[in-house]
Amino acid sequence: MGPRIVCASAGFDSMILEAFISQRVVTPEGVRAGAVLVEGERIRGAVPVGDVPGGARIQNFGEAAILPGLVDSHVHINEPGRTDWEGFETGTRAAAAGGYTMLVDMPLNCLPATTTVAALEAKREAARGKCRVDWAAWGGVVADNQRDIEPMAAAGVLGFKCFLINPGIDGFTMVTEAELRAALPHVARTGLPLLVHAELGGPVDTATAELDGANWRSYATYLKSRPDAAELSAIRLLLSLCREYRFRLHIVHLSTCEGISILRAAREEGLPVSVETCPHYLHLAAETISDGATLCKCAPPVRSRENSDRLWQGLREGVIDLVATDHSPCPPPMKKLEEGNLRTAWGGIASLSMALPVMWTEASARGFALSDVARWMAEGPARLAGCQARKGRIAAGYEADFVVFEPEADFVVTKERLHQRHAVSPYLGEKLRGVVKATYVRGKAVFADGKFPGEPTGREYRV
Ligand SMILES: [Zn+2]
Repeated sequence: MGPRIVCASAGFDSMILEAFISQRVVTPEGVRAGAVLVEGERIRGAVPVGDVPGGARIQNFGEAAILPGLVDSHVHINEPGRTDWEGFETGTRAAAAGGYTMLVDMPLNCLPATTTVAALEAKREAARGKCRVDWAAWGGVVADNQRDIEPMAAAGVLGFKCFLINPGIDGFTMVTEAELRAALPHVARTGLPLLVHAELGGPVDTATAELDGANWRSYATYLKSRPDAAELSAIRLLLSLCREYRFRLHIVHLSTCEGISILRAAREEGLPVSVETCPHYLHLAAETISDGATLCKCAPPVRSRENSDRLWQGLREGVIDLVATDHSPCPPPMKKLEEGNLRTAWGGIASLSMALPVMWTEASARGFALSDVARWMAEGPARLAGCQARKGRIAAGYEADFVVFEPEADFVVTKERLHQRHAVSPYLGEKLRGVVKATYVRGKAVFADGKFPGEPTGREYRV
């Protein structure tokens, strides 16, 4: 009897209809007052409040908006192997607090790097029971793992990542053009996207050699060491390879606005290319980064204010498809905060908890709507990861992932609001617009008013 009762009770519970009401529900059809009806883990529909069936369990969020749960297609979780940098527990907690409901983890930084099926299994083992939000993995394409590409696709990675420049971390190699050519037929056969760090080493090496003896506390020195040309030459190479091999190409963290016109032309030509940029390129500007500010170091670098304005224009025109965080933390000593050496400090900005307010602060000031933010931070990344039929939208049949967001509220970034492993951020002390009140993953609250209710129930997204 015991097991039967438990079973029946669970079945009954999953049939309870819940209605999440808001004056601003952000759906693919627009922002409108209504109710998101949730049954079990799925959305039954978004309906006018008058159409909520009697007997539904109601939560009314009033003026707070309901956005689709954000999907971050560019995160460095670092586990297994470098869990002192970040980890599934802390990374997914930071994500839940930031309105994210799914992360796709990059294949480097963890040990072993995700360049074989065995390494993917090690990552699954490491993630078990620790995740507050759903996750999935990108596989790595490195110098010598061409034979692992199709097996990794069959084992469940959502796509691949490679570097055209030394990534600066042990355990993951860059690819030369010849190595990339060896890998591309395999990648193309999987039909999955190849995400590429698009900078070539040549222009960076040349620029850096000319800076011998320069002041490396100066942000201008660091900026000169990673010229626009490094990105542009890499993008041109990748587009020609895309033309030749017809694989799905995705440019990660576009930093130079000079890439936009080339990418627009490639799109018009019909090449299967997509592009992302990151909140820091859209919010920070070289002119206001003080010398020694290693918290703002990332690669490619944050460039000028004018460059940032033109990236916004690229988003407005739809050449840039999506915004991902490139959340890339490290232990604070590696940031060399006291020394302020921009040459030796680790490059990477951790922003899972703050990306939505950072984006909304800028986007709302520029006249964009919540639906634009949802397109860039939920629907776009979901499409890249191939989960666009289940995640990234508030629509019937989708997983009940959503974020309750107060667009008009503002707050000052404090350490207590950063839920990643190390409370280190270039945004500390800044006043931002938009507060994440709650985050729901498959119908269950995983973050609410500063707390993380219940046990971790996030799981790997599998096709
Ligand atoms: Zn990255």
